Amino acid sequence: MPSDPPLILVVEDDAALRRVTCAMLGAGHYRVIEASSGQQALAEVAAHHPDAILLDLGLPDMDGLEVMRQISDLPMPPIVVFSARGIEEDKVAAFDAGAIDYLAKPFVASELLTRMHSALSRPISPTPDKSAAPNTSDTSIYQVGELTVDPDRLEVSLHGKPVSLTQIEWRLLLVMIWNRGKVVTNRQFAKAVWGPDSESECLRLRIYIGQLRRKLESDPTRPRYLKTESGIDYRLADV
Ligand code: CA
Repeated sequence: MPSDPPLILVVEDDAALRRVTCAMLGAGHYRVIEASSGQQALAEVAAHHPDAILLDLGLPDMDGLEVMRQISDLPMPPIVVFSARGIEEDKVAAFDAGAIDYLAKPFVASELLTRMHSALSRPISPTPDKSAAPNTSDTSIYQVGELTVDPDRLEVSLHGKPVSLTQIEWRLLLVMIWNRGKVVTNRQFAKAVWGPDSESECLRLRIYIGQLRRKLESDPTRPRYLKTESGIDYRLADV
């Protein structure tokens, strides 16, 4: 017997747009549930455990980013953010909060279904694709200078104080640890962190590396650990 089609939660406060979006997904043979506010979205996630979420950033009771932050306490399904805002900082903030794709309004049905299909085939976890890392067996604790990273326990500390990293930052750091001392190219990085179709993510990568350096380096403009090679590639300093 075939299994049930994936269940998608559509979170959108504009009733007309929500109806159209649900109809598009229904025509694509997805099962659909809906929410018109952040609170309702959180209740639906807890009650129905959707396989993916299509999330509007501009909601009446709370920002879509806040919804994602609160969902991250629960098992988090893949989240595609859709927004009319179209601002680069919004996209980065959404990806940082755990979104795996971004869809600008207005969109057509084929675009929505393609994004949803790819979101469902790319479940998110803090662990990047190991096949992209040659040194896969090495998960020993990394310690250089004041920086300590325990890849097994997903713990990092600087000057003995714990540092909190987002999922994307963990992925970046793990790829660097698996390749410690070696150069990791922009393309290898993007592939390991965002999946095989993401080799065009180099700009985003630069933003995230900057973010990670601000958390892990005493002087982010002169990185001691997360080094840049040849202007575009990266290398984690080895012991
Ligand atoms: Ca809205």
